[in-house]
Amino acid sequence: MQKYQMYIDGAYAAPASGKWFDSYNPYTGEVWAQIAQGGAEDADRAVRAAHRALTEGPWPQLSASQRGLLLHKLGDLVARDAKKLAETEVRDNGKLIAEMQGQLNYIPQWYYYFGGLADKIQGAVIPLDKKGFFNFTRHEPLGVVAAITPWNSPLLLTAWKLAPALAAGNTVVIKPSEFTSASTLEFVKLFEEAGFPPGVVNVVTGFGKEVGMPLVEHPLVRKIAFTGSDTTGRLINETAAKTFKRVSLELGGKSPNIVFADANLEEAVNGAVSGIFAATGQTCIAGSRLLLQESIHDAFVEKLLALAKTARMGDPMSMDTQVGPVTTRPQYEKVLGYIDIAKQEGAKLLLGGGAATRPECGKGWFVEPTVFAGVNNKMRIAQEEVFGPVLSVIKFKDEEEALAIANDVRFGLGSGVWTSDIGRAMRMSERIQAGTVWVNTYRAVSYLSPFGGYKDSGLGRENGMEAVREYLQVKSVLINTGAATGNPFVLR
Ligand code: NAD
Repeated sequence: MQKYQMYIDGAYAAPASGKWFDSYNPYTGEVWAQIAQGGAEDADRAVRAAHRALTEGPWPQLSASQRGLLLHKLGDLVARDAKKLAETEVRDNGKLIAEMQGQLNYIPQWYYYFGGLADKIQGAVIPLDKKGFFNFTRHEPLGVVAAITPWNSPLLLTAWKLAPALAAGNTVVIKPSEFTSASTLEFVKLFEEAGFPPGVVNVVTGFGKEVGMPLVEHPLVRKIAFTGSDTTGRLINETAAKTFKRVSLELGGKSPNIVFADANLEEAVNGAVSGIFAATGQTCIAGSRLLLQESIHDAFVEKLLALAKTARMGDPMSMDTQVGPVTTRPQYEKVLGYIDIAKQEGAKLLLGGGAATRPECGKGWFVEPTVFAGVNNKMRIAQEEVFGPVLSVIKFKDEEEALAIANDVRFGLGSGVWTSDIGRAMRMSERIQAGTVWVNTYRAVSYLSPFGGYKDSGLGRENGMEAVREYLQVKSVLINTGAATGNPFVLR
């Protein structure tokens, strides 16, 4: 059995507790690896190593261009090892090899883009109102960043934090999810090979309360970059406030995917099905509320069911599989629990509605792709994040009603609008309260395009130019170039 240690100060490290915990393969339901169970002592060691690397040694001496080159090299190494890293992710999170391979092939772009941005971080000369002064700004790193990631796309969501944090000159301690730590511990080997000095990137593993919270509380950590549930996000934000840390939070969603009668319906059906069943619905941007205009409702649902029924389930390592297992046992139980809630609330079950018992699903944690129609937006199934393959179909009359339903949730992460009317697309994209609006597409993300939440879906933005600002602080330097300071006790 594979045993994974933590990574602190440029070397693999055993946990201070001497304890290890099991990592399960969601397809077989069996333990496949053991992970170091870190605690406060390990978190402290990692933060101190990151803090030393920030202030001593080669990292602070590197030019921004040199930092950029290291990030480029790291991108090349991820590209080289993409297949192996993708397979490790599949073993741990049960997502389809086709999707994880696609993600791993794309991840280098984050390191290339932010590597390129490293030496374009510039201050400004301020045209000050005072004579005899020169004023300029410097954009400086925040210090030690703690990156806390969830189980659904571990290395992608790590790249979203790590690449801008390092481009800006920070040092980082990563805390991956206890359900999917292995890929981060494989990935970290590449840092030494890329030439990063020890301590610039560290990884501690274990449970949120035991090793995550000590990072949030640590006085030497200056920023928390978090992706995960809103419950944990709130706790992190409250705790980080005590030491005035910066916080960026990418939390959950209950995203509306809105189809108008004038849309290309074949395309919209494809978008609706991939919006909810891709990644087994385990994405924060899942299009979990499908809003259909009345006049096309029945015909659309028919087409949607016909397509959803063809989904092949089974071994996520097979390129033929289209819907894989749910990643964790608690999540599997949570999804089944929400299906029961929807039934009790009176939503009309049209497809699935329980655990998958197909022979190809074996002992894995599989849930049948599930579709409920006749959903009222006030129902829990329409308001709460399921994070599984469960779609709620809601009818609407016109644009106003579609908007009212779309915005009537506490989340605001993604949204989709399907229409052939450009005016409507513009009106909807202006009024939907969400960090991303997709028009005639769904789920497209890019390293270039800012991503984040409105309302309870989070704080701050990842990706694009916006992301690097989240890891910088501005210093204003005022230089007297000739103005007399004068005696402060003499009135002038
Ligand atoms: P989670 O909040 O339980 O855990 C996320 C991470 O936080 C894990 O590493 C966990 O160990 C850590 N953690 C837990 N408690 C902690 C604490 N008290 N202090 C510090 N760290 C702690 O979420 P999850 O179950 O791993 O992920 C699923 C959730 O993440 C879903 O709700 C989903 O919507 C959200 N998500 C959001 C995005 C996004 O970009 N917005 C992306 C993926 C997932």
